Amino acid sequence: MNLILFGPPGAGKGTQAKILIERFNIVQISTGDMLREEVKSGSDLGKLAKEIMDKGNLVSDEIIMSMIKKRITKPDCENGFILDGFPRTYNQAVNLDTILNSLNLKIDKVIEINVDEKLLFQRILNRASENQSTRDDDNSEILKNRIIVYKKDTLPVLEYYRKLNKLYTIDGMQNIEEVSKNILKIIS
Ligand code: AMP
Repeated sequence: MNLILFGPPGAGKGTQAKILIERFNIVQISTGDMLREEVKSGSDLGKLAKEIMDKGNLVSDEIIMSMIKKRITKPDCENGFILDGFPRTYNQAVNLDTILNSLNLKIDKVIEINVDEKLLFQRILNRASENQSTRDDDNSEILKNRIIVYKKDTLPVLEYYRKLNKLYTIDGMQNIEEVSKNILKIIS
């Protein structure tokens, strides 16, 4: 089973992905986590990515697609994967399908976690203040830009999957357990 968890920053994609990977023995692929690893390692890619991430902008499709291509061909993806934070542009979605086609794979379902914008701000700012966050991009100014970028560049991805009849939207304003139950209903 290959899924996409879709939603704005702070929607709870990462939390829900963690629940699903245990339940279905599949892997979570988060391009954000992969980029943060690059930043930590101090690689050239990491240095480049950090500048972009610190502004809340998107890393180029080219870089992201090459990371994804390498990742989904690894053996641990054989049982399936959950894409978290990817695709984030229309182009990434189209390119993903090209790669998957060539591997005889497909996306089964896209689950959109729908949340209120005010709640998003609160959640991310809480994440930052509780110090749970090791993320440099969890602050209000960057967050504002991340949400602007989401609306402009990432929302068109939803339309792509809606046309393919793969899009399922759930209410992300409920607690973690309820959201998780609703996701399970959709995929089982
Ligand atoms: P995330 O952890 O998914 O919120 O991603 C953190 C940051 O990494 C984003 O604000 C972007 O700068 C970058 N990033 C992550 N995934 C992507 C992607 N699919 N395309 C472009 N940039 C990305």
